[in-house]
Amino acid sequence: MSHDVDEMEVVVGVKRFLQSEVIPRVAEIEAGDEFPQDILDKMAELGLFGMPVPEEFGGINLSLAEYVAIMEELAAGWSSLPSFLNSHCTVARILTLFGTDAQKSNYLPRLADGSGRGAISLTEPGAGSDLKSIRTTARENADGSYTLSGDKVFITNGMRAGLHLVLARTIPAGNASSTESNISLFILERDTPGFELTRLIDKMAFHHVDTAELRFENVQLPKESLVGGVIGKGLSQLLSVIEVGRIAMAGSAVGLARAALDTALRYSQERQAFGVPICKHQAIQIHLANMGTELTAARCLVREAVRQKEKLGRADMMASMAKVFATEAGINITREAMRVLGGYGYVAEFPAERFYREAPLYMLTEGSNEIQRNIIARGMLASDGPTLLGLV
Ligand SMILES: Cc1cc2nc3c(=O)[nH]c(=O)nc-3n(C[C@H](O)[C@H](O)[C@H](O)COP(=O)(O)OP(=O)(O)OC[C@H]3O[C@@H](n4cnc5c(N)ncnc54)[C@H](O)[C@@H]3O)c2cc1C
Repeated sequence: MSHDVDEMEVVVGVKRFLQSEVIPRVAEIEAGDEFPQDILDKMAELGLFGMPVPEEFGGINLSLAEYVAIMEELAAGWSSLPSFLNSHCTVARILTLFGTDAQKSNYLPRLADGSGRGAISLTEPGAGSDLKSIRTTARENADGSYTLSGDKVFITNGMRAGLHLVLARTIPAGNASSTESNISLFILERDTPGFELTRLIDKMAFHHVDTAELRFENVQLPKESLVGGVIGKGLSQLLSVIEVGRIAMAGSAVGLARAALDTALRYSQERQAFGVPICKHQAIQIHLANMGTELTAARCLVREAVRQKEKLGRADMMASMAKVFATEAGINITREAMRVLGGYGYVAEFPAERFYREAPLYMLTEGSNEIQRNIIARGMLASDGPTLLGLV
């Protein structure tokens, strides 16, 4: 069997699906409002909603290398596709790693087959990077159940997901104070009374991926909805999984940058100016050379983060490096693609302007790039930092 991740069967299958069923339709889908449910159904058939789920619960349990390679392919085909999957897979991964046996058998099968989609509800109007300051509360009732109240913003798949993991400040029964700092994750099903979608947020790209504002008004949750059954583990559960989300986002940025470079490279060989294809002009060659170099460096860093995570179990610093470098490369490469296409880079008939609008999202989410730089510096200054960097 090949060890080259690009040649793995599941990755090849996804490439084939994108070539035949997605790429020819992207321009038409982007121009319309219709939700491409058939594409999501096909992704479910391919098992993509169950990528992190163990086989015993109906998943395909991919390695990290395969998962990240698939996110790159999907983004290169149509960058909305990894956005449908990223938070869903975070939910599935958290329940796989930390869920109780009952939570795993109740929820993982429907996440794996795509019949229930997952959303992760962390961000609030007053707390994004600083999740320790969230105000949503889960007040424990005398019988051990919880009452959930609060507001969340920017929730990807917030409208379409059937299953939410909600980060909330837990207040034990009998404790009237709101200063309790035990932050936990709760499982919330979409049709629970008190769950309200207050608004869909308009944004500069990814129009087919819903981004929602949510309100929880005295939502009654059974005590079994506390992830892992232990109070106060929410942030640590999240942090150990979000690393994978960051590497996957870096992989998605590489995929988007790849699509932009591919568009620019082809165009530069077709478009004539001053009697020659524009790729014969040195100024264009310099753009192309920079784009190719940055793309390749970004992909190498993503693969190093995957290697370190698989080998050591944690890869905080390298995951953040990959996320920063690949997402900033995505912004640079999509901007350079626009230059190579000239006026055609700015108009909606060509994909370069969409790539340019899509790229910045990756620098903002899964922890902004400023937060990633804090993590990188902390990792470099830690006792094993120099070793992980190859300085000693
Ligand atoms: C399209 C989209 C989809 C999203 N999907 C989800 C989702 O599914 N679930 C979810 O929970 N959230 C989601 N988010 C929210 C996203 O994760 C947050 O926007 C992000 O965490 C930043 O939080 P904030 O916007 O509140 O910015 P803030 O935290 O207010 O930060 C503002 C600025 O200050 C900087 N900053 C803050 N603290 C520091 C620090 N300590 N050091 C240096 N700089 C700092 C930030 O980097 C940023 O530049 C989504 C956002 C968008 C736009």
